[in-house]
Amino acid sequence: MKTAYDFIVIGCGGIGSAAAYRLARASGAEVLALEQFRIGHDNGASQDHSRIIRLSYHDPDYTALTPHTYTAWAEVERESGVQLVVKTGGLDLEAAGGDALASYSHGMNAAGIPFEQLSADEVMYRWPQYRLRDGERALFQADGGLVDSGKGIAVHVALARAHGATVLDQTPVRSLRVVGDSVEVVTDGGTFTAGKVVIAADAWTNQLLASFGIAWPLTILQEQVTFFATPNLREFAPDRFPIFIWHGSPDFYGFPVYGEVATKAAIDCGGDRVTTETRTFEPNPRPHRALIAFLERHIPGFLGPELRTKTCLYTMPPDRNFTIDTLPGVPQVVVAQGAAHAYKFAALIGKILADLAVRGQTDCPIAPFGAGRPALTDPNFPASFHLS
Ligand SMILES: Cc1cc2nc3c(=O)[nH]c(=O)nc-3n(C[C@H](O)[C@H](O)[C@H](O)COP(=O)(O)OP(=O)(O)OC[C@H]3O[C@@H](n4cnc5c(N)ncnc54)[C@H](O)[C@@H]3O)c2cc1C
Repeated sequence: MKTAYDFIVIGCGGIGSAAAYRLARASGAEVLALEQFRIGHDNGASQDHSRIIRLSYHDPDYTALTPHTYTAWAEVERESGVQLVVKTGGLDLEAAGGDALASYSHGMNAAGIPFEQLSADEVMYRWPQYRLRDGERALFQADGGLVDSGKGIAVHVALARAHGATVLDQTPVRSLRVVGDSVEVVTDGGTFTAGKVVIAADAWTNQLLASFGIAWPLTILQEQVTFFATPNLREFAPDRFPIFIWHGSPDFYGFPVYGEVATKAAIDCGGDRVTTETRTFEPNPRPHRALIAFLERHIPGFLGPELRTKTCLYTMPPDRNFTIDTLPGVPQVVVAQGAAHAYKFAALIGKILADLAVRGQTDCPIAPFGAGRPALTDPNFPASFHLS
């Protein structure tokens, strides 16, 4: 078996599968991707029917990237012939007196992204599914939508293989060691070497960084999404019901009917702290109750008999910003960690990781996401996310 490669990617979730594809386009058979579980497993962050994709973001560091992520997904759709992005429009909503939408307007204005500011009445006129009170308001951005996360992984893996890459699943990486200019990658299936290693391991990132004596202050939450078998299928179809994010305490988000014959919704940061060992697949009644109460109040027709609740892992540094960088002190290793909001960027982050691994640089503005920033190096850096 070939054991020496130019590039090894560890983790074949949303980001790693995209990196494997982009590296394989450049280096074909010199690329190996390793996944500890089966491709498409349910243990991490990416596996589901849908993830929100949007141009609207709370910070110009992200709106500088959002247009490029649509381009990256379009390249994958063109090469594969598989549609991955479904545009539904996107609503950012908030209660009267809220201040979240101001940062979204600022972020979009900074990038010249068109959007509309809507009052509660204007929202209910265009989307009668909503029950809003005076003072509640929204921003509408027409390019918002969903990306099919499960298909996205499968397509990236298939395209990587089509370009000659080797993708081994059920092959956990146990440790890494720099040997000269290369990195030794020890797995249960043997030891491999590579000139460059890409780590896209999300909740398991610190288990791999331990090989280099590095530990980031990552919080892992067991989150969940719920599918509702609504009887109002036509009203909640993708052409009639935009994806939404309600900005409040907590934040809620949801999707039109897609993947299942059901709507889907969840709370952001509603779950309990776990580790990759202690997480379960059991739904948590606390965030579930809060979600039902929110939907009954604002979008009653969205509800229906519960089809299922699916758990999933959020992994976040204190500033909840991405990390996309070469590992400080280990130039052979490139790493990405998505701070629990990265699937929409997976196709683009995969491209950036390949650039960093092949060329040592990228044209994308990633300076804010450096691995040496205080949020990762200062143990007292305060968390910016709120657990509900
Ligand atoms: C409930 C929920 C809702 C979300 N909603 C959105 C949304 O609407 N929009 C959005 O943009 N983002 C959203 N996110 C965040 C987004 O899904 C993640 O940021 C993204 O999927 C992270 O991708 P990843 O490839 O880094 O992680 P993962 O998919 O977890 O992949 C990491 C992979 O590395 C593998 N791995 C780890 N260690 C090893 C090892 N030692 N050896 C081999 N393999 C290893 C794991 O098995 C895993 O497959 C959501 C996340 C959750 C949980």
